[in-house]
Amino acid sequence: MASDTERNLPILEVDGKQKTTVGNYFISNYPPYSFWTADQRHLVETQLDTDPSPETPLGLYVHIPFCRKRCDFCYFKVYTDKNAEQIRRYLDAVLEEMRQLAARPYLRGRKLEFVYFGGGTPSYLSVDQLQYLFEGLQESLSWEGTREISFECEPGTLQEKKIFALREMGITRLSLGIENFNPEILELNNRAHRAKEIFRAYEAAQRAGFPQINIDLIAGMVGETDDNWRDCIEQTLKLAPESVTIYQMEIPYNTTIYQQMKDGKSLLAPVADWDTKRLWVSEGFDRLIDAGYVLSSAYTATKGENTSFLYRDALWRGADMIGIGVSSIAHVGGIHYQNEHKFDPYVERAAKSELPIWRAYATTPDERFIREFILQLKLGRVECDYFRQKFDVDILDRFSQQLTKLESEGFLTHDPQHITLTRDGLLQADGLLPNFFLEAHQDARYA
Ligand code: SF4
Repeated sequence: MASDTERNLPILEVDGKQKTTVGNYFISNYPPYSFWTADQRHLVETQLDTDPSPETPLGLYVHIPFCRKRCDFCYFKVYTDKNAEQIRRYLDAVLEEMRQLAARPYLRGRKLEFVYFGGGTPSYLSVDQLQYLFEGLQESLSWEGTREISFECEPGTLQEKKIFALREMGITRLSLGIENFNPEILELNNRAHRAKEIFRAYEAAQRAGFPQINIDLIAGMVGETDDNWRDCIEQTLKLAPESVTIYQMEIPYNTTIYQQMKDGKSLLAPVADWDTKRLWVSEGFDRLIDAGYVLSSAYTATKGENTSFLYRDALWRGADMIGIGVSSIAHVGGIHYQNEHKFDPYVERAAKSELPIWRAYATTPDERFIREFILQLKLGRVECDYFRQKFDVDILDRFSQQLTKLESEGFLTHDPQHITLTRDGLLQADGLLPNFFLEAHQDARYA
């Protein structure tokens, strides 16, 4: 059985080993999505009709749900079969949603601090489609003064012309979903790109001069081995990106791998156990630190001058973020919401100039405090004063029981100014977070 600290983790204990089973590990928000409901949608409309709140930073997330292939570990809603006409309908829906939002009083006169293109695969779009999208978005809300524009890419979709066009269009942070450098492992996990495409794309991205390139890796893909993982880290070091993000492989319900587990009537996922995945991440971090990187979160090592990640840092400090596109997540004035999660209803509602919201949740001040606390804990270090000043909460008092317990288990240390995760704590940061949830949210599924 999993210990109390590890509740909610997709772990199955077998012979003293923490085997990987189905479930979510990564926590991206709070309260859990299963508490968001359609009957709270009207609260978003009400919030958007209030006066703007210029002191709250504002960001924009744009969801591009198209991919060349569906990776076996993917749990996102992605489409691999949409033609150019359907993509155009989608882009028009996104632009209409942007127009509707930009016209609402709550956003009036506000500047976008950051823009993030996620997916799916934003780089699946052609240069013409990207130009159409970027220009249309900026007609509604200017990007003048926007400090960071991040863009997720799949290396096989990045032709040189597209890479240079992205730089021209103002992208400041290019994030490459490499995941693994080994051709057999990429194939085994049904990843669309091939190893040689990584180097071609990376080299062109460097020439194009993006201020920051991030590389995503996953520790524990199907077929991973000790030697191959070490090789992935060495290859990463040769490329020398400003940022390296390492995720631990998890198998959520909505994945091909889980379907295969069900078909084979297996509770165990065909990937490394959690101890091995943590060891791989830890060894990777050590190697990166030796090469001059510093750990900037439980997943990220950075090096050099251009290492800030405003999207993460602003969001984890309670920024407003409008999210446009199918199934996008947004937060405005303390209300969380998510858009329609199916393609046709999303496009149809947006085309009718409706806000295509599926479900929402109005957070209480206490939930907003917990949300920021658990998200900032993922950075590995939390400042007590920040919470005293912003929420009038002494976190050492409020969480004294949890902190004592987690400290005795070796996951963190604390002093009057900071709570700091140890390496062990960093390696399973998401598994620690439910300790700080309100009772009602303790065993909720993140779906
Ligand atoms: S590229 Fe990313 S979004 Fe697309 S199928 Fe693979 S994991 Fe999912």
